[in-house]
Amino acid sequence: MTATMPRFVEMERRHGSVIKGMLAAESAQASRNSEISGARWSMFQSFKNGMATLPETLVARLGGSIRKSAEVVAMSRNGDAWRLATSGGDAIDADAVICAAPAYAASRMVATLSPAAAKMLGAISYASAATVNLTFRESDFDPSPRAFGFVVPAAERRRIIAGSFSSFKFEGRAPAGAILARAFVGGEMSREMMTLSDTEIVAAVRDEFRALLGVSAAPGFTEVRRWPDSMPQYEVGHLARVAEIERAVATIPAFAIAGAAYRGVGIPDCIRSGEDAADATFAKLSAPK
Ligand SMILES: Cc1cc2nc3c(=O)[nH]c(=O)nc-3n(C[C@H](O)[C@H](O)[C@H](O)COP(=O)(O)OP(=O)(O)OC[C@H]3O[C@@H](n4cnc5c(N)ncnc54)[C@H](O)[C@@H]3O)c2cc1C
Repeated sequence: MTATMPRFVEMERRHGSVIKGMLAAESAQASRNSEISGARWSMFQSFKNGMATLPETLVARLGGSIRKSAEVVAMSRNGDAWRLATSGGDAIDADAVICAAPAYAASRMVATLSPAAAKMLGAISYASAATVNLTFRESDFDPSPRAFGFVVPAAERRRIIAGSFSSFKFEGRAPAGAILARAFVGGEMSREMMTLSDTEIVAAVRDEFRALLGVSAAPGFTEVRRWPDSMPQYEVGHLARVAEIERAVATIPAFAIAGAAYRGVGIPDCIRSGEDAADATFAKLSAPK
C-alpha cells in the first residue's frame, strides 16, 4: 500500500483522476507490446509449434532421467532416502521428492506420512473442462472478429465459458483467410457440460457461436479435448489453507510440493512454484546435518 500510494497521487495530479491515469498507463503498455514480434500481446505467449514444445524439450534435455507413465502409488522412507513404488510394480529411489501432481494425488501419496497434510490437500476441489477447436473461413464471419477472445459471465447462462481466436493470438496457427477458434466449456459453474458426448458439445458450441458471433457456417473441422479434474478451485480461504499445507508438508523430510494447486494456475506460476520447491529442497539437502 505504501509503495503504490505515491504512484496513485502522481496519477491523479497528472491525469486528473486515478482511473484516467490507469487507463493511460494501460494504453502506453499496449503500444509497447504491439512492437514485440511473435505473440501479438505479451499476455499471450506460446511456442511456434504450440505449448507441447515445453514438456517435449524438457524430456529431450533430461534424457533418460524422465520416466513416463510411472504413476507413484506409495512413498516410504528407505534409510535417509525415499523409495517410490510405481503402478508398474518397480521402485524409484531418490534423495528428495518434489510432488508436482494435482493436490488430490499428492493427498494419496502423503496419506500415511502426514494425515493432516493429506486431509487438507484432499480438500482442494477440482473442476473439469473441455476445449473445442473449430476452423472457419474468415468470410464465415460478418464482420470478421478482430479480437483475441472473450469471456462469458455466468449470468449470461451460456453453454460456453470463453472463446478465443488462436489464429489472431499467435502467428502460424491457420492459413491466410482461415480462422482457428477455440471454445472452453465446463468449469465449476457448468459441470453438466462434461456429461455430454463430443457431438453434443460441438453442437452446443456451434449454437453459442451462432448466437454470440453470428457465425452459422459449418466448421471445417472440430476437435474436442477433455481435461478432467484439471482446474484447482481457489475457494475463499485458499491461501490460508495452502500456508497450513506447507507447514504440515515441511514436517516430511526431503519432500516438497509444487504446481497449480497452490499459488497460481498459470504456467509461469507453475514454473515458479517448481523452481521455489527445487531451491528449498536443495537448501535442505545441503544444510549441515
Ligand atoms: C483447458 C485449459 C486451458 C489452459 N490455458 C492456459 C493458458 O492459456 N495459459 C496458462 O498459463 N495456463 C493455462 N492453463 C492452466 C495451466 O495449463 C495449468 O494450471 C498447468 O498446466 C498445471 O500444471 P501442473 O504441472 O501443476 O499440473 P498438471 O499439468 O496437471 O501436471 C500434473 C502431472 O502429475 C501427474 N500425476 C498425477 N498423479 C500422479 C502420480 N500418482 N504419480 C506420478 N505422476 C502423477 C499427471 O499425470 C500430470 O502429468 C489452462 C488449463 C486448462 C485446463
